[in-house]
Amino acid sequence: MSEKVTVFDTTLRDGEQAAGARLGSREKLMLGRQLAQLNVDVIEAGYPASSPEDFQAVQLIAQEIREPAICGLSRAVASDIEACGKALAKAAHPRIHTGIGASDVHIAGKFRDERYGHTLEEKKAEILRMAVESVRLARQYADDVEFYAEDAGRADPAYLFQMIEAVIDAGATVVNIPDTTGYAVPEQYGCLIRSLRERVPNIRRAVVSVHCHDDLGMAVANSLAGVLNGARQVEGTINGVGERAGNAALEEVIMALRTRADFFHLQTDIDARELYRTSRMVSELLGMHVPPNKAVVGGNAFSHSSGIHVDGFLKQRETYEILRPEDVGIGESRVVLTARTGRHGLRDRLRRLGYELAPEEVNQAYEKFLAIADKKQEVFDEDLIAIVHDEVHAAPEVYGFEYLHIYSGTAAIPTATVRLRVKDAVREGAAIGDGPVDATCKAISMVTGTSARLEKYEIRGVTSGPEAVGQATVHLEMNGRRVIGRGASTDVIEASAKAYIDGLNKLARTP
Ligand code: MN
Repeated sequence: MSEKVTVFDTTLRDGEQAAGARLGSREKLMLGRQLAQLNVDVIEAGYPASSPEDFQAVQLIAQEIREPAICGLSRAVASDIEACGKALAKAAHPRIHTGIGASDVHIAGKFRDERYGHTLEEKKAEILRMAVESVRLARQYADDVEFYAEDAGRADPAYLFQMIEAVIDAGATVVNIPDTTGYAVPEQYGCLIRSLRERVPNIRRAVVSVHCHDDLGMAVANSLAGVLNGARQVEGTINGVGERAGNAALEEVIMALRTRADFFHLQTDIDARELYRTSRMVSELLGMHVPPNKAVVGGNAFSHSSGIHVDGFLKQRETYEILRPEDVGIGESRVVLTARTGRHGLRDRLRRLGYELAPEEVNQAYEKFLAIADKKQEVFDEDLIAIVHDEVHAAPEVYGFEYLHIYSGTAAIPTATVRLRVKDAVREGAAIGDGPVDATCKAISMVTGTSARLEKYEIRGVTSGPEAVGQATVHLEMNGRRVIGRGASTDVIEASAKAYIDGLNKLARTP
């Protein structure tokens, strides 16, 4: 019997921080549902005290998703912990994640104020007291309390062990030893986990958790080293998204444990066939594309090109393949829909892709689906995902797209004419630009009277072939707020216009 490792997903918290744009509650809920399908053990849904929006998102997820434990992050501050407690009040399995800096660098840097003590020693004593207090307070709201010792990777081990012993006595059920700055090396991080388990007398009353960052490209290796030395919870994000270089990529940790079960003798409860789908959803929602050579979920992760490899692969696939694409849910008997597919068939397919839609949303998606099926004969899963994001999960409408006309060519000045619904009126305007997309964006901002800055623009074909649906992603900034807008169409300029308008609608929504 192999022991189980708990999978703690923080895509919605640590991952979202990195995107530069916040997800809305509905988008967070959609991803939360997919994480539940993937069967992670814990979903860290957000940091409730950080904003009313995030509080709401955590609350919504805690109410709707019953199966994995739902976790909220807090600092070791009473108001943060209370916000977590309130946001998680209706959760079936609430977990509060609280903690404080444990390294000298963090303590000296973040707790400069005299009220924490004059010398470093005085400050360390005060931080220890705050850690214990915060766990005690959190236990009043939840039976499951995880404590993080921030920057544990650089902390003085003796102080770290003292802190961990004290918080377990105060009621912590899980102790997280994060390598916050991505500074650790596998051997050394493994040693740290081992000596923690040897030197902290009450350690068996809590689960040891690893939370690694990828600044030196070692987040997954460090996590696995931690697990080999007795950690039984791994924290990370799908696609490894996260602060700076990101977090440990969960799909890599999961498939490493599974493929090398002969070495690790450990297992997870993850349904790996949901990995690819989850990866796609994260990439769509955060507007962060997965590089083709990314392990496990990259577009080329399973393609062979060198002649010798292809020859060997064709004779016997095991020669050059240790994972099978279907193990992670790639290309599993993909149903192609056509214009003859009924509403029922569409809903069924969407459900299998992880999208549970309300009846009126299915109707909306169906109309769009028919329009696309009409233009391109066969509709693939990727097209459907684009439809759902574009039509159903678009921001509530302040500006609506009506009409677009482009005049462009190698010897012409690109000119765009747009007609939009702005509340109840219809407005029209035209602008010239450096190219048709630039002209379109300028015309839209003129008609709407907005001045958002276009920070990033991307267009890609979601399926192959000349009739592919193109998906445009824009990152807009206005008065310090950042949002991601998306639009899909078989016409790339129209997709761009829709993405820009979607972004403006998100900015128009009160934060
Ligand atoms: Mn982190």
